[in-house]
Amino acid sequence: MRRLSGSGPTPGWGHETPHEEGAAILSVNELELSYPSRRALDRISFELGKGEQVAVVGPNGAGKSTLFKVIAGVMKATGGRVTIGGHGPVEHICIAYIPQRNQIDWSFPVTVSDVVMMGRAGRLGWLRRPRRLDQERVRECLDLVGLSDLAGRRIAELSGGEQQRMFIARALAQEAELMLMDEVLAGCDWRAEKEIFRILERLRSRRVTIMMATHDLDQAAAHFDRIMLLNRRLIGMGRPEAVFTPENLRETYGSHLRLVQTDTGLMILSDTCCEGGEHSDNG
Ligand code: ADP
Repeated sequence: MRRLSGSGPTPGWGHETPHEEGAAILSVNELELSYPSRRALDRISFELGKGEQVAVVGPNGAGKSTLFKVIAGVMKATGGRVTIGGHGPVEHICIAYIPQRNQIDWSFPVTVSDVVMMGRAGRLGWLRRPRRLDQERVRECLDLVGLSDLAGRRIAELSGGEQQRMFIARALAQEAELMLMDEVLAGCDWRAEKEIFRILERLRSRRVTIMMATHDLDQAAAHFDRIMLLNRRLIGMGRPEAVFTPENLRETYGSHLRLVQTDTGLMILSDTCCEGGEHSDNG
């Protein structure tokens, strides 16, 4: 049975290490991750500043989930280095990994409020009962994501968008400074998407750093400070207008992407791709 927290240990139950003065919240240096059959990440290097919101874009199999799992400490890199606030690699309590919905066992008999309280576990310790402060924090986090009315509901009875908001609330309860969101918009209708972007704006004002994997290039351009184009290698990272060039997009998606120049800009007709991101033109 899959664990409620997704695969691997729950990043929230890690260590609290004070950040080094002036260090980037996240620094990734020449990171490599090879599975027995293939290399999923090839010499990835970048840094994120506190409060930045970055969209991670690339075809299926590009290595987005793998990158998040390595940063979260769920998987160990086969090369290179990840540091969080100048320290690493350890499971930091300040990182929350919000997995794809299909990684979760939704039949787990717990309520929304129980799941959000799990975010307090790292701060409480395993055996201590939640204090009033923890209960209050859980209520605040549910309020922030607009789920107060559903606190007592079983998680199986939530819509897709509500499930994602619950995990954002859990990350908030954990007091995460870096949230890694793996395709949280997948399966959400426009209302649910709008709600999630509203929450991201609130997180921006709290200077929470966000990396979100998404397939929606328009939304990535509209809502995020920087875009990371990934297909095993880091193809580009920067402001949307600098990164979403036809050359970069072709390099990322290979022949699976059709680009059409319109009066309003570049239109993408298809971003579907082979599982495994195996474009011969991507080295
Ligand atoms: P994305 O999130 O961009 O779809 P993933 O990180 O899930 O990409 O996968 C990157 C590549 O690594 C894919 O080719 C995938 O098939 C492979 N992969 C992912 N997980 C495993 C695993 N546990 N064992 C072997 N290969 C894996």
